[in-house]
Order: sequence, then structure tokens, then C-alpha cells
Amino acid sequence: MKLAIDGGTPVRTEPWPSWPPPLSGAQRELVTEVLESGLWGATQGTLCADLAAEFARRSGAPYGVTVANATLGLFAALRGLGVGQGDEVIVPAYTFVASATSVLLAGAVPVIVDVEPADLHLSAGAVEAAVTGRTAAVMPVHLAGSPVDMDPLNAVAVRHGLKVVEDCAQAHGATYHGRPVGGLGDAGVFSFQSSKAMTAGEGGVIVCRDEAVHGAIWSACNVGRRLGGEWYGHPEVGWNLRLTEIQAALLLPWLERLEEEIARREAFVAALDLGDLPVSVLPQPAGTTRDSRHLLMLRVEAPVEREFLLAAMAAEGVPLDGGYPPLGTMAALTDAGARVEPCPAAEEAARSVVWVRQQMLMDDASGPVDLAEALAKVLAAR
Ligand SMILES: *Cc1c(COP(=O)(O)O)cnc(C)c1O
Repeated sequence: MKLAIDGGTPVRTEPWPSWPPPLSGAQRELVTEVLESGLWGATQGTLCADLAAEFARRSGAPYGVTVANATLGLFAALRGLGVGQGDEVIVPAYTFVASATSVLLAGAVPVIVDVEPADLHLSAGAVEAAVTGRTAAVMPVHLAGSPVDMDPLNAVAVRHGLKVVEDCAQAHGATYHGRPVGGLGDAGVFSFQSSKAMTAGEGGVIVCRDEAVHGAIWSACNVGRRLGGEWYGHPEVGWNLRLTEIQAALLLPWLERLEEEIARREAFVAALDLGDLPVSVLPQPAGTTRDSRHLLMLRVEAPVEREFLLAAMAAEGVPLDGGYPPLGTMAALTDAGARVEPCPAAEEAARSVVWVRQQMLMDDASGPVDLAEALAKVLAAR
């Protein structure tokens, strides 16, 4: 069959579902209410506080703080946990750059370690091997909505006195041994940036376990004020890292349909039949009880040129994402002082792993068939 990239007929011409999905009636109503009230800021209204409380409740962590984005949320969480200058923070090599730049914002040194070759997640063994006398924290990333195997990692953290900050930017609704992510470490941070599973264009929320840490995180996000303290009293150094009420009005009603959206993406993966194609869905780490399927990560074992694969799949109407280069290869991070362990698994992932984005996973009817058909067609051509 002639490939679409060579002028043949594409496998799919129908557009994929849009992201974000169309506004719900509840979103439209709440956003309009906020706009008309004039109470647009978090210091004026109550929706940001409601959203923080709801995320805390759902994460099984007692406290929540909304924040302008997850990069700043990770920074504020580290700072609230007392991580700063002179400290090292262990981060995985296969993740979004913000996992490391948030550490730099806190004044600490990101230590980039390799991921597990099979599932591309941070492992307890890799963390333990990278611990030094300066290690203060570790940042497991629940990549693609798939939870890190947290029990062994938490055991290493306890043994070495490390704080655990979960990067939940991609994992709204994921669970590990039945427990929601975000509440598994000392703090967890979710993102509402436009590519995430819940979005208000930008935004984030931090959940945490300890009352004093909550106070410190809140203060970092609220110009150094103390909760319940004086307006122009600033006992700490802090910044304005706040979310707006308008964003919270988009996000609160979203929680009502999050479950249904995850179920749809799960249905896509369940229906995907790759037959004997040299392509596999990445396995889930031990302890996974719910992968929220923010992205579907596929390993392509065929000797196909990567640029060709991505271009040919896009031409077939089934665009895939090439994913992350290993963090350790980014000169900006090493120039800024990041320490890099050898990362052969992340380097291999950059060559062989591709992603199917969440908006495509929302088409659980013809989507899985189109994906398998386009892969078969493109791989047969090489
Ligand atoms: C998106 C993302 C972030 C950063 O979130 P922002 O809200 O865009 O700052 C951090 N970590 C991971 C893994 C992400 O995917």
C-alpha cells in the first residue's frame, strides 16, 4: 500500500477529538459567575481554596495549595520542605525539563539518574545508588499517568532521611495499591497546563501531609505571609505564585467528568490490538492499580528511522510524539550545575519510544484501529 507520505491515501482523515474537550454547562456557569462577580483573584474568592481542598481530599493528603503552574508548585513544595542551597535532589532522566528546573529554582542541585529500561520510571535502586551526604529529596515522576512503584522508593527515602516530592503533573486520578498519587510522599504537585488531563490553560495544585509544611508552602506562594497573619506582615520570603478564581472555576466542575475521561482512555488501550507488530505498550511498574493514561507510551522495536516514522505516521493522520530527550543531554541543565549519572535507558527511550497523546486516546471507537493500521502500514514499508 502506498504511504500517505508518498502520495497514497491516509489511514485516517477524520480529525481527532479536540483538547480541551468542549466546555461543560457547569464550567460555563461557574466561570460566568466568577467573571460577573468581579472576584477574580484567589485572595478575593473561595474557589481556589475549594479546589485545593478537593485535591487534598482526593489525594488522601490533608492539605492543598493552588499555584500558578506545576513548575512553581514543585519549587514551592521543595522550599516548604526545607530543600535549598547546598542540597541535592534526585530526579529521573526521562521526564519534562521542569522536574529539574524546579530544583534549580529552589537553589538546589538536580541529580539526574537513569530510569528503569522497561517502564521508564524512577526506581528505588537508582535512587539509593545516587544518594550522597548532600541528598535532601527525591522527585518521583508519575510519567504518562502511570504511578512510580512508591513503597520501595519511600523505604529508601526513610533510610536516608530524604523528602519525597511526587511530580503528579501527568497523573490526575492515578492510583498505586489503591491509594491516589499525590498523597504517597511528603508533597505532590499536579499541573493544569494546557496539555494536561485537567486544564485551565495554566495552573497547578500542591498537596501535602504536614501542617507546618503546608504553612511554609502557602507562605512561599503568598508573598511570605503567614496563614491568618497580617496582610502586610511578611515573616518569610515568598512570592505571588497564585492561581486565579477564573481558572479554579474551569477546574472544579472538571472533576465531575475526570473519571469518565480516564475510563475512555483506558478503553482505547484495552481495544488496541497490535497483533504481531514489533510495537509494545510499555509495562506498568509494580503496584499500579490505576494508570490514568495521560499518554500512551509505545516502544517500537523495528529498525525504522525515527524521523521517517514520525513523519509517515503524521501523514497517515495518526500523529505520534517523539517524547523526551534525556535530561542529562541538555547543556542548560549541566551548565547550571546539574549532576548527571550515566543514563543508557533514557537514551534508548529517546530512540525507540513514541507517545500517543491523550486527545487521541479519547477516541476509543475508531482510534485504536486507526493507530494499529497506520503502524502496520508504515512499518511494512521499511
Ligand atoms: C507539565 C509538566 C510539568 C510542569 O508543569 P507546568 O504546569 O507546565 O509548570 C512538570 N513535570 C512534568 C512531568 C510535566 O509533564
